[in-house]
Amino acid sequence: KKINLALCGLGIYANIVAESMQGSEYCNLAGIVTGTPSKAIKWKEKYNIPDKNIYNYENFDEIIKNKDIDMVYVILPNSMHKDFVIRSAKAGKHVITEKPMAIDVKECEEMIKACNDNKVQLALGYRLHYEPTHLEIKRLGQEKVFGQVRYIESLGYKTYDTIAKKPVDINSPANWRLNKKLSGGGPLMDLGIYCIQVSRYILGEEPISVTAQFGTINDKNRFSETEESISWQMVFPSGAMANGNTSCGYNIDRTYASADYGSFELSPGLSYGPYEGKTSKGPLKFPPIKQQQKQLDEISKVLLANKKLPDHITGEEGLKDIKIINAIYKAAETGKKIIL
Ligand code: NAD
Repeated sequence: KKINLALCGLGIYANIVAESMQGSEYCNLAGIVTGTPSKAIKWKEKYNIPDKNIYNYENFDEIIKNKDIDMVYVILPNSMHKDFVIRSAKAGKHVITEKPMAIDVKECEEMIKACNDNKVQLALGYRLHYEPTHLEIKRLGQEKVFGQVRYIESLGYKTYDTIAKKPVDINSPANWRLNKKLSGGGPLMDLGIYCIQVSRYILGEEPISVTAQFGTINDKNRFSETEESISWQMVFPSGAMANGNTSCGYNIDRTYASADYGSFELSPGLSYGPYEGKTSKGPLKFPPIKQQQKQLDEISKVLLANKKLPDHITGEEGLKDIKIINAIYKAAETGKKIIL
């Protein structure tokens, strides 16, 4: 048996997920949830989706009666994750939600509670947790292959044109990332979350304090509500420091870790790959994989075996990242060190 999945929200990333999961051994694209009738027609034809498995945002709750859907994958703007995760949970469906989990801590807590109350599992769309290059830098750091990691630099970006075409109208749905109500914030929410994640999984530790600074706003049209770039510094219990920077204004994609007896790095390190890297002992490279298919297969295998999802991809993990993001924003706004 495969897990039958319904994709909720059919934007750019949902298309990537749908393509990647074709041929999956454990997960089947069985349904869709969309607010756009023309997309429903296209997807129905392309992926052979039966009418009974096609929902819109209004009739979505009827999915409770549909035994042919086991799990919903929410790939909507950040502020919509909470509503659809809770509605999926109430319908008795396991649910994956895209990163960032939600726009604040309270929303994350409500989502976790709803999934617990309805005895369904909640996963985060953290695809890099299944990617071999990232698993390797996690191992190099956590197993202290080059000794204790002392310093991490993690940088990630998204270019202007991928997030908003000119002329810029931040109220246009296409530009939801620039609209604070829908996004919860700028590149920190979107890409910086990967930089936070990578620092946490290289070290296997949680930060104890953060300081942060907003960068210059060079494009006031686009960045009237959200930051254009932001830098932050995290201190970990071992004494390790992690510097992060994320931007929509310049291209940066690098993860570097310096340890007592060596170093390792990836550049690019956070985009869709393939990732290029090296350690102080030689090259660091793995064949590219279908990241989204691997992620869905691994989640589905756990669910098919009636087991518990591993902690590092659950709602609790998503909540940890949102707490850190909140602290980074607070540090940048106040100019103060925030203790976590
Ligand atoms: P997108 O703009 O391409 O798609 C958003 C979808 O939501 C569209 O289908 C749109 O029609 C729908 N929608 C419904 N109500 C909307 C509203 N009020 N405003 C705007 N859109 C609305 O965005 P995307 O890039 O697919 O991102 C969706 C989610 O996926 C986000 O949470 C994002 O952070 C996440 N994402 C994750 C990855 C990853 O690698 N894990 C990559 C890209 C995006």
